[in-house]
Amino acid sequence: MSNPSPRQREILKLVNQKGEISVDDLRQILDISQATAYREIQELARLGLVAKVAGGIGRLRSSRVNCVQCGRENNPRTAFAIESLDGDTVVACCAHCGLMALTRRENVSSATTTDFLYSRLLNASQAWYVLESSVSLCCQPSTLSFSDPEDARRFALGFGGQVFAFDQAQQKVREKMAFKQVFTL
Ligand SMILES: [Zn+2]
Ligand SMILES: [Zn+2]
Repeated sequence: MSNPSPRQREILKLVNQKGEISVDDLRQILDISQATAYREIQELARLGLVAKVAGGIGRLRSSRVNCVQCGRENNPRTAFAIESLDGDTVVACCAHCGLMALTRRENVSSATTTDFLYSRLLNASQAWYVLESSVSLCCQPSTLSFSDPEDARRFALGFGGQVFAFDQAQQKVREKMAFKQVFTL
């Protein structure tokens, strides 16, 4: 991971002071073009240092109340937690957001997801994921976690969707989101 540039650090400082800052404000305060402001925002978001909000960026929510990825309120039924080596823990609303958030975090020490049937916490890398079933409690494509691959298969038989192990699930969610972005730009 590259370190933030001096300008990016400046932006981080502003975001931390204000909580949120719009693209327009960034342009004016730093005297940069809109394209540059967008590029810096993209880069900071990619590094996982800020959260994108409507029209600008905001401070990362390290609180456990809102999803670290999409900002929606977390639900204990589907929560996905990511702990860093420094002990900082962030929580995503569901496995969909958790898998997305994992791809852009560094120094991860552990990730836990919630078994959809038994509400038990389980190691995310050992969980089985059912993608795009007809049960969509949270984000699209719907992603539910299971500790037992048999449970996951039976669930998919009844409610549709496909069963994936951790690596495949992560890849699939990323692919689907990239696809979605292309068509909603
Ligand atoms: Zn989310
Ligand atoms: Zn979600």
